[in-house]
Order: sequence, then structure tokens, then C-alpha cells
Amino acid sequence: MNIHEYQAKELLKAYGVAVPRGGVAYTAEEAETVARELGGPVWVVKSQIHAGGRGAGRFQDNPDGKGGVRVVKSVEEVGRNAAEMLNHVLVTKQTGPAGKEVKRLYVEEGADIKRELYLGLLTDRASGRVTIIASTEGGMEIEEVAHNTPEKIVKVAIDPVTGIQGYHTRRIAFALGLEGKQVGSAAKFIAAAYKAFVELDCAIVEINPLIVTGSGDILALDAKMSFDDNALFRHKDVAALRDEAEEDPAEIEAARHDLNYVKLDGNIGCMVNGAGLAMATMDIIKLYGGEPANFLDVGGGATKERVTAAFKLILSDSNVEGILVNIFGGIMRCDVIAEGVVAAAREVHLHVPLVVRLEGTNVTLGKEILADSGLPIVSADNLADAADKIVAAVVKEAA
Ligand code: GDP
Ligand code: MN
Repeated sequence: MNIHEYQAKELLKAYGVAVPRGGVAYTAEEAETVARELGGPVWVVKSQIHAGGRGAGRFQDNPDGKGGVRVVKSVEEVGRNAAEMLNHVLVTKQTGPAGKEVKRLYVEEGADIKRELYLGLLTDRASGRVTIIASTEGGMEIEEVAHNTPEKIVKVAIDPVTGIQGYHTRRIAFALGLEGKQVGSAAKFIAAAYKAFVELDCAIVEINPLIVTGSGDILALDAKMSFDDNALFRHKDVAALRDEAEEDPAEIEAARHDLNYVKLDGNIGCMVNGAGLAMATMDIIKLYGGEPANFLDVGGGATKERVTAAFKLILSDSNVEGILVNIFGGIMRCDVIAEGVVAAAREVHLHVPLVVRLEGTNVTLGKEILADSGLPIVSADNLADAADKIVAAVVKEAA
């Protein structure tokens, strides 16, 4: 789960990470009020969307205008810029061409930037450790820095037994070219960010840029936090920060029904039980020349209702031109699946070819239910047969 910049800064601040003062605003009037309370002379008005690259992004209705992060010098200007940004669609490198509508703004006190640095924390799967990534090239995408100038990146893996130590933070501070009192401030900053990462079960904490101000202070000018969904149950306050307007409606619906759904770019919808079988199904669709429209694992103990929900979810994707249901009835019985498929197909007035491959408990009964339904469902006997039939059906449909 991702959260907004202002929410991330609030969480990080509570752990002792230094951030500028600021306040969230949902209207231009609120933005002015926040600005007045902060006091000048410089403010930054920042679009809050779950995507980076806002500074360099442009508003869809004004591609020649200013970006999603604006430095202004009066309360009136805060209001004017807020009005230009709120309820307008911001397109950045990370949003894709459709962009994202700005619904919230963050108004911050302006910072006197001397240097822009990069600091990121994530779990490195190779070492299995929380790893801190730092670079002198702040404000740029770290992927780009890694590609063009990898020597400008320092990585420090933290042993969970010792936790973060002085030598870790000093190594990073020196790599960032910090000196004097900045080394101590950076050490405090990095240790606080690490504590937040571990205690809040984060997947990513990214501060880009981390700045050194004219007076030598270290501040998080931007903050991105992403959380491990599987640990959200123990962070109710973090879970409450979810902004559903920023999420894919299909994935929200899937989560509501305990379905593991990931939308993909192809045209063959897949409904499978078990992640391994779902992967195998996607592979065999590709082997037969097709492209899967999604990954969907309905789980081991799915009910008829869940199957119906899964079916609707697949069909909500307008790219879907055919569906392959591939279920191994172990815990789940084939007749239950068949009933769910039939009920859902009726409910949504199925308009695309459907191939069903069932195997396992009550398979004969399941196949009977499909055959007796009167619906144009194609039965398949094995994985290869199923892939062959759905790919052929989609090609035929397209012709
Ligand atoms: P992003 O583009 O979505 O990553 O948004 P950021 O929060 O990183 O802001 C983009 C850029 O705006 C930063 O890299 C800074 O160069 C600039 N910026 C942000 N806040 C301030 C500020 O307080 N003062 C000045 N002068 N520039 C700022
Ligand atoms: Mn940034």
C-alpha cells in the first residue's frame, strides 16, 4: 500500500526524521489558510498523488504551464496555484499518459536548498536485509543514476541482529560528502528513517531529495512510503491512510473478495486456483500464442460468491476477449466451481468465449453442470487442450 507524501512526512516526523513544516489542503482557501499559518516568505505548493515526477510533470489541460510542485512567494499566489492544480489531471513520467487527478495539496514552508541528495530504504531480496541506498545525485530517479553513474550510489545492508550502528550511518554520511555537524544530523536522520521502516513494516522509504540547507540542516524535502500489505493488520493507523481514489478499482474489488488479482496487458482472462497453477496457466497461454489479461488466483477455499466476483472482475477489463477457467478441485470441489461459473456467466450476460478445464473432486458432476447450463461453454480435458481452445476461440472471435 502506498500513501501520500504529506502522510509519509507525518509518520517519519514522529520517528525523529527532520521534515519541513506544512499542512494538507483540499481547497484553495484551505491552502491559503495553511500558508498564512506557516508564515512566509516562501511556500511550496505540492500536488499529492501516488506518483513521483510531479515537479517535472505537466497538467493535462495546460501542457505548457507549470508542474505539480510550485515555489511561490505570497499567500495569494498559493491560492491561485492551488486552484490551478486542484481537480486537474497531472501527467508525470510515473502516472502514464492518463495522469492522475489532484485531490489534495500539501503546502510547505520553502526550503533554502544547498544540495539535493538521495536516500532510500528497502528490503534487498538477495541479502534478505533492509538496505540503505544513498547517492549524491538527489532529485533524479535512482534507476537512472544506477544505470548511468552506478559509482555514485552507496549501498549499506543492515544486519537485523545488530540493527543500525554508527559506522553504517557514518559510511553513508561520508559517501554523501557531508561534513562537520551535518554528519551527526544525517546519522540521526538515517537511524530514525531505519526505525520507522522496521517498526512500520515498510516495503520502501524513499527520500528524494534529501537536502542540505543553506544553514547546514538536513531535511526530507520529499518522502515516499510503501507498506507490506501482509503486515497492515498490525498497523491500523497506517491502514487508515489508504486513499482508494489512488488505487486501481479492480484491485480494490479483488482485495474485498480475498482474490489475488493483477491486471496484465493481454486479452485472455484467467481464473485459476493456486498461484503456481495460475503462473503455469499464463505460461501455457503464451506457449500457444496468446496473451493473458490477468493473473487471478481465487484461492483454495473459494465459495460460489467468490467465483462470481472473480468472474465479474475479469469481465470488467474491456481488453478481455476470452476467458480460461482452470481449476484443480482439491479442497475446492469442481461442482461448486461449475455452479459459480454458470451463475456468473448468466449474471454478466457473458459475451466472450469461455473455456473451462476442471480436474479433481466431483469433476464429472462439474462437467455435467456446465454441459446442462445451455451456455456456450467449451470444456477442455487438460491444460494444453484448454490453452489451445481458448487461443483458437479468441483468434476466431477477432477474425
Ligand atoms: P517529485 O517531482 O514528485 O519527486 O516531487 P519533489 O517533492 O521531489 O519536488 C520536486 C523538486 O521541487 C525538488 O527536487 C526540488 O528541486 C523542488 N522543490 C521542492 N520543494 C522545494 C522548496 O522548498 N524550495 C525549492 N527551492 N525547491 C523545492
Ligand atoms: Mn521527489
